[in-house]
Amino acid sequence: MSKIKHVFLDLDDTLFDFHKSEAVALSKTFRTLGVEPTDDILRDYSEINRSMWQMLERGEATRADILTRRFRILFEKMGRSDISHVEAQAIYERTLSGEWCWYTGGEELVKALYGKYHLYIASNGTAVVQDGRISLSGIAKYFDGIFISQRIGYDKPSREFFEGCFAAIPNFSRDEAIILGDSLGSDILGGINAGITTCHFNPKGLPQREDIRADYEISTLSEFVDILRRI
Ligand SMILES: [Mg+2]
Repeated sequence: MSKIKHVFLDLDDTLFDFHKSEAVALSKTFRTLGVEPTDDILRDYSEINRSMWQMLERGEATRADILTRRFRILFEKMGRSDISHVEAQAIYERTLSGEWCWYTGGEELVKALYGKYHLYIASNGTAVVQDGRISLSGIAKYFDGIFISQRIGYDKPSREFFEGCFAAIPNFSRDEAIILGDSLGSDILGGINAGITTCHFNPKGLPQREDIRADYEISTLSEFVDILRRI
């Protein structure tokens, strides 16, 4: 029998295909603002956004910095500083909270684990956006806890984020906990900081980092069930 009782699951690009939802929400946002969402614009936004989230993981930016700066930087790059980045952020947030879809194998994974382990969502997303998507998807019923960093007051990979989760779980023991997520910088480093077992979901086969070593690595979500059985 597995020693694991508590399973923390990252939401975006682990259970949910965030990339897809983001592209849909961005296109709708740009069209609302009267801008045709070309591939170049979407790619530029993605790059700006990704680099800002990496800054947040390194403690070099706050969530508020990301939300106020990413559209401003993009519009400057497009030479369209006439468009309000504040309005863009508001439209985007509203639109994104209505967009969600499973990552391949996400639904099967949650159903396979449900009833066998205590399941928790551990997400760095914005509370209002994640609440909307979680509620639309109907997945809350599978989880014993839904931990959104903005609500806890700390983001992954900080120890404080995980301490906030652990404090809310009765009879919690680190030895019996694992986190599964796609981000080395937030999920895996966070799990290491918090002293729990880590599993890196790496569907694109991105190179590993010497300084952040996950206990396990999988390329499809179905492999996670076998890992839990083994440990
Ligand atoms: Mg993720």
